[in-house]
This record gives sequence, structure tokens and C-alpha cells, in this order.
Amino acid sequence: MITSHASLEMFQEFNWKIYQLNDDRHCSSVVDIISYLHRDITRILKAVRKEKHQELEKRICVTFSWAFAVASRLHINVAHEMWKRFPGCCPYCKGAVCDCKERADSRQALTAARDRPESLRDWQKMFAAIYPNNKLQDSVMHLAEEIGELSEAIRNFFAVHSDEAFNNIAEEIVDIFANLLGTANCLDFDVAALLADYYKDGCPKCQQCPCRCGYIVVDQPV
Ligand SMILES: [Zn+2]
Ligand SMILES: [Zn+2]
Repeated sequence: MITSHASLEMFQEFNWKIYQLNDDRHCSSVVDIISYLHRDITRILKAVRKEKHQELEKRICVTFSWAFAVASRLHINVAHEMWKRFPGCCPYCKGAVCDCKERADSRQALTAARDRPESLRDWQKMFAAIYPNNKLQDSVMHLAEEIGELSEAIRNFFAVHSDEAFNNIAEEIVDIFANLLGTANCLDFDVAALLADYYKDGCPKCQQCPCRCGYIVVDQPV
């Protein structure tokens, strides 16, 4: 149904095809979907703490799926937003290889440093090139920061409903994908191959597309 060579857009669309129906019926708002994303990010943290690296393959797939669900619910094209924020370089130091001693307070205005990746695999390689010194513990801690920042951005948007606040949501979603890919790089995982395999029959639990199993109550990855 989808191959490991597929583009980031195709993976997002594929996830939408599998789960839109369930998300629309069972998740009353995007805040609901974010709470599932939050749950699965904390499970990644737990698996790292317990060094259950085998389990992390599935955890990362499920977390990717929820992160796509958040973006799709808000009509955010992940690849488009990602390139705005990471055009082949670090948004803080502008380095094609990040040279940040510590994260600066604000991002820099960026112009594209190279061609935009198409395949999810090439996006993952881009992050490996920008951040070659990422460490697993730091990457998952950063992921935990980002889910908190996404929740804050959503709350702000619902308070003010401005374009700027919406843009901030897109930025935080991109940061979650960037840190998921960074975590996968630390583990030498090929996310595109993992996703193509995990979702090869559609929903891994009911093997249907769209999913008909109410996967939302499933606690453990299949
Ligand atoms: Zn940097
Ligand atoms: Zn299902």
C-alpha cells in the first residue's frame, strides 16, 4: 500500500486514509489527538529509559501516526512546513551542520540551503546531516519538551485565533517530527522502512484501510 521510498507527503496522506474516519468519529477535538500523541511520546521515553530498543521501532511508528493525525486534523502539510523551518540547515545557527553551543532564544530567517528532500528517507538523512552529534537521551528529552510546547501552542491558538498563533502550532509540530527523526537516527532506524512495514496492511490491528477497529483503545502497539 505504501513503500519505503514514498515521499513525506505520501506517508501523511496514507495515514489520513487509514485513520481519518476514526479520528473524526472518536476524537472530539485536536486536543484529544494531542493527548494520544503525548501518551505515545512518553512511552518512547520509557522504552529508552528501560533500554527496550526493539520496542522502540513500533513506538516510533505509532507516534509518527499520531503526529500525522494532529497535522492532518489542522490541515498542516508537514513537508511544506518542515522545509520552511529546516531548509537543509539548523534554524538557530544556520549551519548545514549545526554548531549551536546551546539553543538560541530565537530562530533565524532562513533561505533554502539546498534542494528540498522528497522521500521521508531523505528527510531523515537531512536531519542526520544537520545534527550528526545527537545523543539518544537528549533527543527523547527534547521530544518531551516539544509535546509540552505543542500543547501550549494549541492553548494559545484557541485563546487568540490568530495566524501567528496557528503558525506557532505548525512550528511545534515540525519540531516533533524533527526530534522523532533525530531519535530514529540515534537508533539507526530507517523510519520509512519501519512505517511501510508496520502499516503494510493499513491499520496494523484490524488490517483495514480505513481502520474499523476503534484502535484508539488499543494500549500496546500490535
Ligand atoms: Zn544549530
Ligand atoms: Zn484498525
